[in-house]
Amino acid sequence: MSDSTKEQNTAANLVAVVTGGGRGIGRAVCLELASRGYSVVVNYSHSSDAADEVVSQIKAQGSEAIAVKADVSDHDEAKALIDAAIEHFGHIDVLVNNAGITRDNLMMRMSSEDFESVVKVNLEGTFNCMKHVARPMLKQRKGAIVNIASVVGVIGNAGQANYAASKAGIIGMTKSAARELASRNIRVNAVAPGFIDTSMTQVLSDKAKEALQSQILLGRLGQPEDIAKAVAFLAGEEASYITGQVICVDGGIAI
Ligand code: NAD
Repeated sequence: MSDSTKEQNTAANLVAVVTGGGRGIGRAVCLELASRGYSVVVNYSHSSDAADEVVSQIKAQGSEAIAVKADVSDHDEAKALIDAAIEHFGHIDVLVNNAGITRDNLMMRMSSEDFESVVKVNLEGTFNCMKHVARPMLKQRKGAIVNIASVVGVIGNAGQANYAASKAGIIGMTKSAARELASRNIRVNAVAPGFIDTSMTQVLSDKAKEALQSQILLGRLGQPEDIAKAVAFLAGEEASYITGQVICVDGGIAI
């Protein structure tokens, strides 16, 4: 990112909220947006250590950041997250719904709890944050929301019926929100990552990793930074005529 874009964004006092921003893709998104001049609200749900480390790194690079605790699957905590961001920075320009979990199992062995918890965090968490950020964004007649879906929500995956349902749901919800909010200059898009090297995929068995890797046309796992760059693009002015879209950043898995 050029220094002039960073200066313009800093001068415009752009503010981004990133859910689950302490590690993995969320962390990379926080750092990428900060490098482009955004002030960043780094959300976390349990221990603050990782989020605090991201905040320190952003501040060391000369941008502003705070860490805010909230379980996004809880309606009131998601509201408190949005309120805290506005109280501290005055407004929100960008919301990135990144928080997500997996509870994989074959459908016949999947418990109702594992189905519900994944849908609750991934889908309802995204809904909660979009719902609460919509009003302030509508008032300011400006905003961008980027939801992290998954290529699994597009093509499915054995052992991930719950996760695929939640991510396909995010895609439908992204398009619906784009239709609801476009008239007030609020854009809503999604990034659908493929197989990215984070703690979420490190727990997969070698067999599952090999099977996934064999589907990647570009022949390598994605890095969190690959996703962060696409998110920053969709969040920013360069994408000002793009809404309701899903960009697969997956090395070619889904074509
Ligand atoms: P990760 O497990 O490293 O990060 C997930 C983050 O979400 C963590 O910081 C976690 O604390 C946070 N989180 C979980 N539940 C939360 C809650 N209720 N409230 C607030 N925060 C919560 O995994 P990742 O790979 O960085 O995943 C980030 C996003 O990307 C997820 O939505 C995931 O589904 C999606 N994704 C990842 C991959 C991949 O290959 N890694 C592929 C497709 C999509």
